[in-house]
Amino acid sequence: MTSLVRDLINTVHGAGDTSHSVDAHMQKVLDQLAQLHGQAIENLDAAQARVQPSPADAVSALLRAQGRTHSPESLIPSVKSEDRSIPGVNGTLEIRIYTPEGKGPFPVVVYFHGGGWVIADKDTYDAGARGMSESAAAIVVSVDYRRAPEHRFPTAWNDAIAAYDWVTTNALALNGDPERVALAGESAGGNLAVATAIAARNRGTNKAVGVLAIYPVAQTGNTATQSYDDSAHARPLNKAMIAWFLDKLVTSPADKADTRLDLINADLVGLPPVTIINAEIDPLRSDGEMLEMALKEAGVDVTRKVYTGVTHEFFGMAAVVPKAQDAVEFAGAQLKRVFNGAVLADAGHTRAAHAGAQPRARLEPKDPGAARLKAIGYAAKHSFSDLKPFKFERQAARADEIEIDVLFCGVCHSDIHQIKNEWSNTVYPCVPGHEVVGRVTRIGSTVTRHAVGDLVGVGCMIDSCRQCEPCLAGDENYCEGPNSWLATYNGPMIPAAKAPGGKNTYGRDNTFGGYSNVLVVQEDFALKIPANLRPEVAAPILCAGVTTYSPMKHWGVKPGDRVGIIGFGGLGDMAAKIALAMGAEVTLFTTTKEKLAEAGRLGAKAVLESDKQAFEAHEGKFDFILSTIPKKHDINPYIPLLKRDKTLCVVGALEPMEGVNNQIVAFHRKNVAGSLIGSLQDTQEILDFCAQHDIGPDIELIDIDQINEAVKRAIDGEVRFRSVINMASIAPDDPNATVEDSAIFVVE
Ligand SMILES: [Zn+2]
Ligand SMILES: [Zn+2]
Repeated sequence: MTSLVRDLINTVHGAGDTSHSVDAHMQKVLDQLAQLHGQAIENLDAAQARVQPSPADAVSALLRAQGRTHSPESLIPSVKSEDRSIPGVNGTLEIRIYTPEGKGPFPVVVYFHGGGWVIADKDTYDAGARGMSESAAAIVVSVDYRRAPEHRFPTAWNDAIAAYDWVTTNALALNGDPERVALAGESAGGNLAVATAIAARNRGTNKAVGVLAIYPVAQTGNTATQSYDDSAHARPLNKAMIAWFLDKLVTSPADKADTRLDLINADLVGLPPVTIINAEIDPLRSDGEMLEMALKEAGVDVTRKVYTGVTHEFFGMAAVVPKAQDAVEFAGAQLKRVFNGAVLADAGHTRAAHAGAQPRARLEPKDPGAARLKAIGYAAKHSFSDLKPFKFERQAARADEIEIDVLFCGVCHSDIHQIKNEWSNTVYPCVPGHEVVGRVTRIGSTVTRHAVGDLVGVGCMIDSCRQCEPCLAGDENYCEGPNSWLATYNGPMIPAAKAPGGKNTYGRDNTFGGYSNVLVVQEDFALKIPANLRPEVAAPILCAGVTTYSPMKHWGVKPGDRVGIIGFGGLGDMAAKIALAMGAEVTLFTTTKEKLAEAGRLGAKAVLESDKQAFEAHEGKFDFILSTIPKKHDINPYIPLLKRDKTLCVVGALEPMEGVNNQIVAFHRKNVAGSLIGSLQDTQEILDFCAQHDIGPDIELIDIDQINEAVKRAIDGEVRFRSVINMASIAPDDPNATVEDSAIFVVE
């Protein structure tokens, strides 16, 4: 499906983008660091690793080379610092206290440096802590907690709590305000900051008013994240170093599951506002994203900013990297915000109201007295978690609705986009599925289109406003009602938060889709499955079929036309079969050699995307081109292939695309267009058309417990075969199913 239009612009991390370009200022620091000839620490022992040149050393060297001052005090003269020893859990801890200009009492930040719990100290991380003192106008207390391997997990966590307690107890003596104490940290220290906030919340006294986590370690169990992958060999932090740190830190693998390390699985409810700062070129970038998601889902006020072109450790480089200066100022502004919030709380306002914490609204059933259906589905609770069994309730069919037993549900690429929150609009828990074929089990009192026992299909929509101009014109998929159409899962296309006046005309902000045993749908939004179409084959036609058919119908593809299809995955396969059945001459463009022969078997021609000669030979030959690639890609090479006045339509990618060269568009008055699924009428037409021409997607049937594998396969390649879940494999009483919180969700 679909989801889409709403916050596409909001995407902060380029999914799948592995070509990061380095900021020019950042590059100078990296070059300088290389010239200091440090050894790769993963080949050293801890003592040797601790004396290797650090990024902070590179910044100093660069400043010297530029003839600039490099002493911390002269770089930020408004902040004074003083070193002290304080009592710890076992002996003393060394701290550095940074005090800004002014008369105080100041708010206080307890800060933990990075270094993987093994290397580095408050000197290495002086610049970031000092800068923060200035930008937040706060006292910053930087703590030298004990390090591994001499002191393994959880010594540093205990030291962090001891230091935090000392600061809250002694804040007044430091000219600080004990009511306004926040936690901050970089990298390993970012983890300590969040973990300490959790410990303080658990205890209920001296709670922190906010947390700043700069490229934190949020988990260590999963090193197959996107950033571990795309920044595996980044500098100054790489994947091998993190493994080396962990080896020194933990005593047994079980430590990694301890929620002090594994923050994303910790109980995060009730934490104060959290700000996360990430660097794009950093194996820990995805950790930041996962933590953001987990905090959001716990109802915590969280803000995350990703700085592009910079690496791990950039925060302390403000003297030479402007983006670091920006990050230090941003950190200061965020800290000031929580400190001000604490003031308001003291003045009798509620902090939550000030900070804008908005736990996701719970759903109210439209009719609390109505009967409910027990349902079981497979849900993702986070963008990074697998789909797992999940029990919930649906509101039973109202007068104009029908209930169906789900027989089959296709696995569409947009399910995956949505599970992974790649359109930044996913509502969790997320039960995907919008290629549903099922049997009607009950009908509402006014239903006329369907009878009990009918075989019906449900695509991306289960309702629309039915009053707007597009709806009245039969273009429900372009509904312009206040919440647009109601998606089969994930709720209205325009959620209340984005709708005029905060309205939600459907009365629900989440819907649960077809990866479940039962579904309830408005009768008009259930399509008839023709008798001679196998139900499992019909399922993907409800999305992949109509998504490719609708634009071909709209732009009038007719017998004899030359149609180009870009991409030969699930959508491309459907598009080719439909175009061929329409009598068109079809050429497929693919990156994969093996698919040339597959195209031939369908009766289509095929061209390798890399074949420049073939492209030249096809110039000005096509009546219509459909791009089915499910992510952003360059369409410029294809535009010259169109005839004058003809159209290239993109249906696979629902995200910002690179620019179009208007020279090639303008010269022959060509059109570049987009199209979103199709209307109810289009959907019924393509079901009937496929039955009539005996075509359909190539499918493989899977059981529901194979869904996570199927998702991985679809991500890994241009899978032409559509996975379709045989829903008979779901166990209505799965003992492993989770139930959402204490209250059961009612979604329909
Ligand atoms: Zn779909
Ligand atoms: Zn409408």
